[in-house]
Amino acid sequence: MPSNPDVIILGAGAAGLSAAAHLAQAGRSVLLLEARDRIGGRIFTRQDAGIDAPLELGAEFIHGHAPANVEWLARAGSARIDAPDSHWRLENGSLQQRDSLFPQIQQVMQQNAALATHDMPLSQFLQGPLRDKLTSVQRDYICLMAEGFDAAEPSRISARAIVEEWTGEMMTDAPQGRPDGGYASLLRALSGALPVDRVRLQLQTVVREVRWSHGSVQVRAESQGREVIVQAPQAVVALPLGVLQASREGGADALRFDPPLDSKQSALRGLASGPVIKLLLKFRRAFWEELDDGRYRDATFFHLGHEHLFPTFWTQAPVRVPLLCAWAGGPRAARLSAEFDQAGMVGQALQDLSAVFSGRVDVAAELDLALVHDWQRDAFARGAYSYIVAGGADARRQLAESLQDTLFFAGEATDEEEAATVTGALRSGERVAREITAARISMMHRRRLEQ
Ligand SMILES: Cc1cc2nc3c(=O)[nH]c(=O)nc-3n(C[C@H](O)[C@H](O)[C@H](O)COP(=O)(O)OP(=O)(O)OC[C@H]3O[C@@H](n4cnc5c(N)ncnc54)[C@H](O)[C@@H]3O)c2cc1C
Repeated sequence: MPSNPDVIILGAGAAGLSAAAHLAQAGRSVLLLEARDRIGGRIFTRQDAGIDAPLELGAEFIHGHAPANVEWLARAGSARIDAPDSHWRLENGSLQQRDSLFPQIQQVMQQNAALATHDMPLSQFLQGPLRDKLTSVQRDYICLMAEGFDAAEPSRISARAIVEEWTGEMMTDAPQGRPDGGYASLLRALSGALPVDRVRLQLQTVVREVRWSHGSVQVRAESQGREVIVQAPQAVVALPLGVLQASREGGADALRFDPPLDSKQSALRGLASGPVIKLLLKFRRAFWEELDDGRYRDATFFHLGHEHLFPTFWTQAPVRVPLLCAWAGGPRAARLSAEFDQAGMVGQALQDLSAVFSGRVDVAAELDLALVHDWQRDAFARGAYSYIVAGGADARRQLAESLQDTLFFAGEATDEEEAATVTGALRSGERVAREITAARISMMHRRRLEQ
């Protein structure tokens, strides 16, 4: 590994790792700087000896066909396990199996032309153009889904983006699965694709300042109390959106760009980093499989109404383990993060879970272990994943645009097709590697012409 790398990559999440692997394959030498003591960022798989399933504190599902995920998993000898789609909703005090609500909503959204000329926040769309076309139950469902699935605030998220996403391929023709062995398998494949003679990974190295000019980047970082200064002709910024937004706002710990990223300001305003609280609850037994003569044996999701802070729970089906995930996104997650400590969150989740089964199970007595990671308070994430705010249609493209063939931008928030997912992050890493290769070829051309 040469001491002067061709490219410095900031952040060793899926995007940074994918960029490093593709750049190394193209013959470039890479220095990968990561703040945490582990790779993977918002992929965070833990194992517990007492349970035969990965404990995913971050990404868990493979949404849609996701060829990038499947290819990397195959390299690790893993594959996707399809998850059944069995949703149960608490309605008038009993659990009902409901699948029809979402297709009805998709149809109404598809037929509506109100967004053709201008965008608006989702809540305005629901109260205006869709007011008479949906029932209040359907409107509540849409808000809960925007909060839960997109981690969004309905009064901020772009209605146009929601309609595109919910009526697009990922939702209409979308198998949902999980990596066998968890997302740790994908990280194994990615790190296995980093040849030691071309890629150096430096963990526990927090980037503090990026000074850049055409063809030159100097990075100042802090590594376990020591200052580290490294230099390269090009760098990839593969940091979370929330970290870049905090950098724009300044503050004592904020990452600094010199000169500042003025051309990214409107992109950073057009996107939001949505909050999520994902709580894993391991029980002594999978009590839901036994209730009501086994009716919920194959259930994947349990849903509650909007009066609950944790409105969604899911199982690991088809894998049968005594594990439930309690999920809150958007404003509920923001509230949980701001007002509850960890024990308070667990107490709230158990209270909501008890409501799912109408108080018939003493869920607290069944609990064995609870795990949570607060991604909002995590300084190296500052949110779970990105969404487009009303009027921000072009923000992802703008954020992805390279600057002077010197600074390149990756990360889930930069992907125009599959943002907010691991797939989007992987795709963005591959994209920047292509951009860097193209920039190098055109530079060599220019030099040859000048000679
Ligand atoms: C709770 C939760 C559930 C999710 N569920 C799913 C799911 O089911 N399916 C799915 O596809 N996606 C899911 N996602 C989204 C998915 O995890 C992300 O889209 C993806 O992992 C983002 O990858 P990334 O490389 O863009 O960013 P990150 O993984 O965040 O990587 C960025 C890296 O930069 C590092 N960093 C930050 N600041 C600095 C600094 N100053 N110096 C050096 N390094 C720094 C971070 O530590 C991190 O490692 C979920 C996310 C969360 C939080």
